[in-house]
Amino acid sequence: MIAQIVPVLFAFGANLGDRGETIRAAQCELAEGEGIGNLRASPLRETIALTEHGPDPDAPRYLNGVAIAETALQPHALLDLMQSIEARHGRVRDERWGDRTLDIDLILYGGRVISDERLTVPHPRAHERDFVLAPWLALEPGAVLMGHGRVSDLLQRVGDTTRPFDEAGEGDHAEG
Ligand code: ATP
Ligand code: CA
Ligand code: CA
Ligand code: CA
Repeated sequence: MIAQIVPVLFAFGANLGDRGETIRAAQCELAEGEGIGNLRASPLRETIALTEHGPDPDAPRYLNGVAIAETALQPHALLDLMQSIEARHGRVRDERWGDRTLDIDLILYGGRVISDERLTVPHPRAHERDFVLAPWLALEPGAVLMGHGRVSDLLQRVGDTTRPFDEAGEGDHAEG
């Protein structure tokens, strides 16, 4: 049987370590994965950390981005791969929405609706997250989020608190 090729959308976040490097490395690892191809990544945006208690200006700030790709993997095999890449980059599962070196979420898997103990797709909170919507809009200006409408309209509704991020500048710790 020939596997179906399905378009997918991933969201990435990191607020510990060398955030930009980690996200770019994770995207390469995904693209190189068996059964994943044509990965195209957004610019990265910087955002104040969202914790269980709301936005926390004292927590390390996040870098976020999204990527679209095509896959022949089934959704749970894709999640396995995402979680193995998170683990390789030192992801520790601790408190909900706690600081992390790398988070990879599956936002969309083609037009599929998935709801089981491991996977909810479309991601149930993507439509209310500027840090998903803003980089996605930069990558695909005409994007539509299944069940919620145009990404540009959604971002306008929630308000965009994300800021552009100069990747060439990170890692340059010279002061003054
Ligand atoms: P949020 O889902 O609100 O962004 P989070 O990314 O911090 O929170 P995690 O601790 O990374 O949550 O993941 C918890 C569990 O969520 C994972 O073990 C995974 O099984 C499950 N999960 C359900 N739906 C998805 C999805 N669409 N993408 C990634 N993980 C998912
Ligand atoms: Ca590949
Ligand atoms: Ca997440
Ligand atoms: Ca996650």
